Amino acid sequence: MNETRALVLFSGGQDSATCLAWALDRFDRVETIGFDYGQRHRVELDIRGDFRTWLAATPWAARLGADHLLKLDALGAISETSLTRDVAIEMDAGGLPNTFVPGRNLIFLTFAAALAFRRGLRHIVTGVCETDYSGYPDCRDDTIKALQVALNLGMEARFVLHTPLMWRDKGATWQLAERLGGAALVEAIRLHTHSCYLGDRTPRDWGAGCGTCPACELRARGWQAYTAAPRG
Ligand code: ZN
Repeated sequence: MNETRALVLFSGGQDSATCLAWALDRFDRVETIGFDYGQRHRVELDIRGDFRTWLAATPWAARLGADHLLKLDALGAISETSLTRDVAIEMDAGGLPNTFVPGRNLIFLTFAAALAFRRGLRHIVTGVCETDYSGYPDCRDDTIKALQVALNLGMEARFVLHTPLMWRDKGATWQLAERLGGAALVEAIRLHTHSCYLGDRTPRDWGAGCGTCPACELRARGWQAYTAAPRG
């Protein structure tokens, strides 16, 4: 297992793009993995190429390693959610939005670990967040810590699952991007990442999207908090 190499779960969204920059700042070599599970906002998979292209023209280029795109059709096939079906986004009785794809992060991280095992990558980075999450139980800190234990036992490995955004809200995530890569990185994330669940690319101050789905609302709120914060 290589101590200086990492694998980042990179979906093409704001959070995972910020995590990718965080990893490039720390590790000598950083590979990325993305998943095609039949998501309605499949445009995010195209956008991830745009962001990697932007990175390739920065001083981080030398650290940016291979990209892996995995097809997980089976997950889409068994998921009755508004992320994978053409149904309206709403809350269920328990307060969980029907954008929740059960087990998604557990499955993503397990496949990421299987790839990391083969590639000899010890560090796995994911953008899950408990502070500003959408109620998804698999984004919680305890879920990730438990999964790290399970993966290490099950694969006889010593993976470290890193969650740099776990206790940051969306405004603080923009601040982290600014600290890592200045205004240029903030602008690259604004333009070359995608959050909208509906796959809408209508230009907005904070990026692109429909402006009304939960992912757009969260991203817009974070951008407002970030731009309203005092500089210096
Ligand atoms: Zn939207």
